[in-house]
Amino acid sequence: MKSQKTADISREKSGKLFEKAKTYFPGGVNSPVRAFKSVYGSPLFIEKGDKAHIWDADGNEFIDFCCSWGPLILGHNNTDIREAVIANIGNGLSFGAPTKLENELADLILYNNKYIDKIRFVSSGTEAVMSAIRLARGYTKRDKIVKFEGCYHGHSDSLLVKAGSGLVTFGETSSAGVPKSFADETLVIDLNDTEALTAVFEQFKDQIAAVIIEGVPANNGLLLQSKEYIHFLRAITKENGALLIFDEVITGFRLGFEGAAAYYDVQPDIITYGKIIGGGMPVGAYGASNELMACISPDGAVYQAGTLSGNPIAMAAGIATLTTLVQPAFYPTLNATTAAFVADLRAYIATKNYPVKIFSVASIFWFAFSELEQIQKANEIQAESMELYKVMHRELLNRGIYFGPSGYEVGFISAAHTTEDLEIAKKHIFAALDLVF
Ligand code: PLP
Repeated sequence: MKSQKTADISREKSGKLFEKAKTYFPGGVNSPVRAFKSVYGSPLFIEKGDKAHIWDADGNEFIDFCCSWGPLILGHNNTDIREAVIANIGNGLSFGAPTKLENELADLILYNNKYIDKIRFVSSGTEAVMSAIRLARGYTKRDKIVKFEGCYHGHSDSLLVKAGSGLVTFGETSSAGVPKSFADETLVIDLNDTEALTAVFEQFKDQIAAVIIEGVPANNGLLLQSKEYIHFLRAITKENGALLIFDEVITGFRLGFEGAAAYYDVQPDIITYGKIIGGGMPVGAYGASNELMACISPDGAVYQAGTLSGNPIAMAAGIATLTTLVQPAFYPTLNATTAAFVADLRAYIATKNYPVKIFSVASIFWFAFSELEQIQKANEIQAESMELYKVMHRELLNRGIYFGPSGYEVGFISAAHTTEDLEIAKKHIFAALDLVF
């Protein structure tokens, strides 16, 4: 039976701030999804966060499952990260020269990650992926890139491309301002489809520089790929002299310290990182073998640079974060907490027979309003299901539970989510589902 809708929270102060913001920024925001276009109401302006909780300008408190879209695996206002930032901030903010903090963060990563020999720090995930693509093209001396429908890799020109129709398609730009000639270098195929992969390599023999895939596609729902498929992808790229790029901006340091590469036990050629690596500060990175990384400037011919790359304060936040994550108990504990949470949600859904599934890996989970047992391709998500997410999202906000403002986005659990937080969240999610169905 449908439950009663909870009264809407006040958005008075957030609403006023948003009106003002609209006079400054396109759509009132500095990144589009923040505008709440796909859910009810106007965006909440966040004032502060502590552990798993955030507070908005109207004083509403929420348990946060968005976690700044993934970086905050240790929650908000983590003591170690805060102290590391404060300890370094008095020394100056940026020098545009090397600092030992870059060495320390690189040492922590490379010593504990057998999939890359060298790393280069940049300032965002977009930059990391853009640089990885250039490296792949520079190394192979080929131009075409294969990407998958439903994978997001940041907003660089080559990657703002979506599928046309057919098994293998030249991409169509998914943003105004991307030249068609750029999109023509990007081939788009469906996920989890060995036939499409085979066809693309037959059709574009010796032209493909790299195939790029998200470690686990998590920007268009959570599209869990089979292990066999990922191994097939590795084999076919190798056979054809193309590189395999794992975009681990979400999965890096989330699935485990060595990310999706270790999760599948696959050696990609280039791996990109972002989000968690900077502990909430703007850091991205890409890494590969010594041979590949030798192609990067200043020693190699592939140019890539950044005024604020390796920023010392951001490095300090990254070091504090990864120092915690590298502890042996960290991932088993967080992943077990998530598995138990998801199991309880699934059990409730099963008793009610609601047509909703929860897909999950490590500390990532996603509500799929669908009867399908598996969703592995972007086109298996029904657009109408987003209407149900909208109802759930509004109800959850009213009950003090914060999820990303789009049904295509996943939820994250951090080490700061306590048993009590998760018990409270479950109760409200059950009630919100009762309202939806
Ligand atoms: N790659 C993946 C898999 C992402 O999820 C994102 C952002 O969500 C990016 C790249 C782009 O990262 P950024 O937003 O830091 O530029």
